[in-house]
Amino acid sequence: MNNKKLVALTFDDGPNLTTTMDVLDLIEHYEITASFYVVGNNINSETEKAMQRAVSLGCEIENHSRTHSVMTEFTAEQIIDEINFTSDKVEAAVGRRPKFFRPPYIAFNQLMYDTIDMTFICGNGAEDYNDEVSAEERYKRIMEQVCDGMVILLHDMAGNFRTVEALKMLIPKLLEEGYEFVTTSELFERSGVTPQPNTIYTNVHQ
Ligand SMILES: [Zn+2]
Repeated sequence: MNNKKLVALTFDDGPNLTTTMDVLDLIEHYEITASFYVVGNNINSETEKAMQRAVSLGCEIENHSRTHSVMTEFTAEQIIDEINFTSDKVEAAVGRRPKFFRPPYIAFNQLMYDTIDMTFICGNGAEDYNDEVSAEERYKRIMEQVCDGMVILLHDMAGNFRTVEALKMLIPKLLEEGYEFVTTSELFERSGVTPQPNTIYTNVHQ
């Protein structure tokens, strides 16, 4: 019986060859894993190398739409295109089709639940897309919320060096506190939780 506390570190809005790579350097250094929720339109023959490196380190690539739009205004056809475009690109690059979806802006509705055959994931974040939130503050906000089974929601968008700085404090602190970093899939599997439809998860024990 493994009674370690589990946490899933997740990143939105990549892939890119700058911040994504900086995050991967830390993941490699600390020998942990994470999940990257990618935007399909950011995937090209260069940036797919970042996804391939992530997978080689034990990370998983998940789906954060094609165009990063507010999808609650979309028809079923548009929703399907957002999902399949990105999942097809990810599968072509890394050989595994995403199983989890994070709606852009955490905007979702019943049509999206009915149309997207994936588990919806939210998470607790630190407003780390806002340049006015310092690295120290990002670290503090995550530490205030962290608990067993939680999804940590951060962003590896290009130029987001404050989150890279926050991770340099956050990762060793969570390891010291006995947390094990797992992918989104592992978070469910290791916690013995079966993902349910019509549900968006911030913590598998919610
Ligand atoms: Zn996003």
